[in-house]
Parts: sequence; structure tokens; C-alpha cells
Amino acid sequence: MENKPQIIIIGAGIAGLAAASSLIKHGLENILILEAMARVGGRIHTMRPFGENVIELGANWIHGQKGNPVYTMAKKHRLLSDEGTCSKKCLSASVTKHDYFFNEKGEIIPNKTADDVYDYFKEVVDEAVDEKSDSQFSFSSVGDYLDKEFSSSVFAGSDGASAVFEWCKRAECLDVACTSMYECALWQPGSYIDLEGEYFNCLGPGGYQAILDILMKNIPSETIICSKPVHCIHWESSSKPTSSSFSQPVKVVCADGDEFIADHIVITVSLGYLKKESMKMFDPTLPEEKLNAIERLSFGTVNKIFLEFEERFWPTDCEGIQLVWEKGFEHKEIYDILKNTEEWKKEWYKKLCGFETVSCHDNVLCGWIAGREAEYMEELSEEEVGNVCVRLLRDFTGWKVTNLRKVLRSGWHVNPYVLGSYSYIPIGVDAVREQEILAKPLPFTDGSTNVKPLQVLFAGEATHTNYYTTTHGAYLSGTREAKRLLNLYKQSKPH
Ligand SMILES: Cc1cc2nc3c(=O)[nH]c(=O)nc-3n(C[C@H](O)[C@H](O)[C@H](O)COP(=O)(O)OP(=O)(O)OC[C@H]3O[C@@H](n4cnc5c(N)ncnc54)[C@H](O)[C@@H]3O)c2cc1C
Repeated sequence: MENKPQIIIIGAGIAGLAAASSLIKHGLENILILEAMARVGGRIHTMRPFGENVIELGANWIHGQKGNPVYTMAKKHRLLSDEGTCSKKCLSASVTKHDYFFNEKGEIIPNKTADDVYDYFKEVVDEAVDEKSDSQFSFSSVGDYLDKEFSSSVFAGSDGASAVFEWCKRAECLDVACTSMYECALWQPGSYIDLEGEYFNCLGPGGYQAILDILMKNIPSETIICSKPVHCIHWESSSKPTSSSFSQPVKVVCADGDEFIADHIVITVSLGYLKKESMKMFDPTLPEEKLNAIERLSFGTVNKIFLEFEERFWPTDCEGIQLVWEKGFEHKEIYDILKNTEEWKKEWYKKLCGFETVSCHDNVLCGWIAGREAEYMEELSEEEVGNVCVRLLRDFTGWKVTNLRKVLRSGWHVNPYVLGSYSYIPIGVDAVREQEILAKPLPFTDGSTNVKPLQVLFAGEATHTNYYTTTHGAYLSGTREAKRLLNLYKQSKPH
């Protein structure tokens, strides 16, 4: 590369690290990564709170294999230690066929009922994936579509099947990070592409952090500055050209007052952060189209609740304990009653799908919860959350639940630098259009103006039109923006 542009990357999640690694590998080495948190990784957060083995507070699955760069890296570096045995592909990443389903009367739901309804649910979702990736479906909800199909199925009229179907919708909220499938556009299953191949959640002793470590091998450690939140980004729009006395068009001001000048910045902060801060963060403010895209796309919350017990109390063949309510929150009539009230807060725990076992931790269960109930759970004390979970486990299973030793729950919504878990498509939104605008670099120009191109580039999970929500989507968005810059400098290289 002839030029040595200064590039600042905001955020050291997987998108930011992938962008930096790719730029450095291809010769653009004048890079600085500014990260607000004290650690790298963002929504990938490997921890060891229960001894030497890891747990994942954020991402834990590799979603599919073919064309998945995260899978390719994990395979190349032999991180898939139990390849084959730990792989599974299922309705929700948190549920397997070896789960026990219980109803609130403490009865075990026969495997056949749970499996049949669960298989039927997957079929209907797959049909939606095949047929509904068209903008005309942006005005229907997934929940309504599923209910319509269910009402004409062989299960119609069975209360038991209907309760399991409600559970399936609740579990699907975990994949989507929405409060309800009645709020998620039918477009979502059509525009999101599920990569071929099984899912993996077994990344060996280093956990998901090992993927970040591979990327960081290419990035000199002095390139990353942690605990450095960016406060404001000054850039030059075509209507406000060259106001700075520097030849470089972008100035980044950090919360501690430090300033950095750059030719380009790649911003990888979450959609949740953009929703809260984008009006204040940019000078001049972002174009209206961009602000609209930030507003229209949704960003929801999924949280995990880890429970460490004194002793394991569930059977050895049990991989999960699922909670089926007679009238759960994903029954349409219950959803409609609770929608515009605060009543759901009294029974927030009804949104918990269940508890799964945690690999390499014999006495730990992990509960999963999505939506506004997941956000509300963050406001409660860990002790209260733990007590509620123990009560549910006792009431549903009737097993002798041993004493709780420790509770650790994630707080992705309360985290000021994330403000949720991942993006989804609400009803009425043209997903691809908004995601493309979200990803479009600043300034918006047709090439005829004098302003410098590609001043502010946008990466991150929510900017990917097919793989949003995932680590591979985030990774690919980072390399996409790196490529954009690399192309610019290739083009301007003198012959
Ligand atoms: C509970 C949970 C479970 C998940 N499970 C899976 C899974 O199993 N499989 C999967 O593929 N994906 C999963 N995901 C999603 C996946 O983690 C994300 O899609 C991906 O990690 C997002 O990466 P990113 O780089 O786009 O954003 P982030 O990881 O959010 O990185 C953005 C970075 O920007 C930083 N930042 C924010 N504001 C500022 C500022 N002002 N200045 C400087 N830095 C700033 C943040 O601190 C953060 O580090 C899960 C997420 C959650 C929360």
C-alpha cells in the first residue's frame, strides 16, 4: 500500500477485531482500536466463575458451518475438541432432544407430545423461511402466522399440544431476542440465512475467547486501548466540508477528553448503543435516512442465569429442564391482555423457557430468558432471581433441588456499551433496506462532491443483511468494511 491512512476502529468486539486483523494483514497498519469496556470481546464474554472451566455469558454457539468464518477458524485451530459429539442443530440453540419437559402441575410431558409438537413447529418455521422472504410479509407477525398454521394442524384443540406450542414460541424469542413472536416480522425467518451444517457450542478450554485470541494474534497489543469510550465523532458532510485545520477529515473525541484524528473510522458499536447515543454522538448529525434505520430496526435482550448447586440433582441423561405453562405469555390472548400493562412484571419468570445443563460443569444449570422480562430480571437482585429459579425447579420437577451455591446472571441491557443482546426485525420494517442503510458509509455521496470518501464506516452484527444476530455476521461485517477501505487504497495507488 502506497498510502498510510490512519484508521480508528470503535469497539473491540468480533466485528472490530475482524476489521483490524484484515486491514493489518493486507498492509493498512496504521490502526487504533478504541474500546469502551475494560476488556475486549463485547458480546463475547468467556468467564470462569465456577472454577477452572469456562462459561459463556454472551455468545456460545457457532451457527452452522458452510461459509461460516468462525467455524473455519475454530476448525483450523483445533478448537472443536469434541467435534461431532457436541454438535446439535435445534429449534433454539438452547434446547436439545434430551430435554425433560414439565408442566406447571409438576407432570412430565410425554416425550412423544413434546417431540411431535416441537418437530411440527420446526416444519412451520422452515416453511416460513422458504416462502416468506418477501417484503409483502413484513406486515405480518411470526406469531400470527404460526397460530394460523397450528389452528389447522392435527394438534388443534389439544390443550397439551397448545401449551407445548406456546413454549416453542417462547423458545423462539431467544433466537430472535424479541419480547414476543407477535412483535417479530414474518420477514425475519425469511431474510436471515441459516448456514448449512450443525451447530457447535464446544470450543474447548479457551471458550469463545479463543476465537478472539486468534484474531488478536494479528493485532499488535498497543493498537488496542481499552476503557476508552468514544464520546463524539466529528466528520465532514458534503453540506459542511473541510472545517478542520487537519488534512484528515475525522476527529474522535473520547469521554476523558482525549482526541484522535483519522482518515477513516469504522464504528462497530451495537445497534442498542446507536439507538441511545447516535443523535449526540455525531457532528454533524447522521443523515435522516441513517437515523430512521437505527430507529426502525429493533434491538432486543436475551439473558442467561447461571445457577451453581451444591450437588447435581437432575438425572444423568437430562440435558435440559423445560417449563411449559398452561397459559404462557405466548398464548395470543395472554399476550394481548398483558401487552400494554405492567402486570407481566409480577410473573416475569413465566418468560423463562427453562434450564439447560452446562458442559464441563456437573452442578451448574443455565436459564434463558428473552425480551422485556429479561430486562426486568436485570433489575432484581441475584438472590431474588436465584430463589425464583429454585422455586420453579422444585414446583415443576418435584425433584429434590439441592442448595444454591452461586447465582450469576448476564445484564446485557443494563450494560451501557451494549444496551441489549442482538437485533431483530419488527413488524412493518423493510429489513434489507434498513440494514443496507445502516451499513452505508458516510458521507452519503454520489462521488461528485469534494468531500473525502469513506470517512465513517459501519460494521457490527446489525449491519449484516443475512447473518445479523450472530458472531459470524459481525465478523463478516468487519471484513466487509476492511475490504471497502482496502479497495479505496488499491484504486488510488499510483501506477
Ligand atoms: C446472551 C447472548 C447470547 C448470544 N449467543 C450467540 C451465539 O450463541 N452465537 C452467535 O453467533 N451469536 C450469539 N450472540 C450474538 C453475538 O454475541 C453478537 O452478534 C456479536 O458478538 C456482536 O459482535 P459486534 O462486534 O458486532 O458487537 P459487540 O460485541 O457489541 O462489540 C461492540 C464493541 O463496541 C464497544 N463500544 C460501545 N460503545 C462504545 C464507545 N462509545 N466507545 C468505544 N467502544 C464502544 C462495546 O464495548 C463492544 O465491545 C449472543 C449474544 C448475547 C448477548
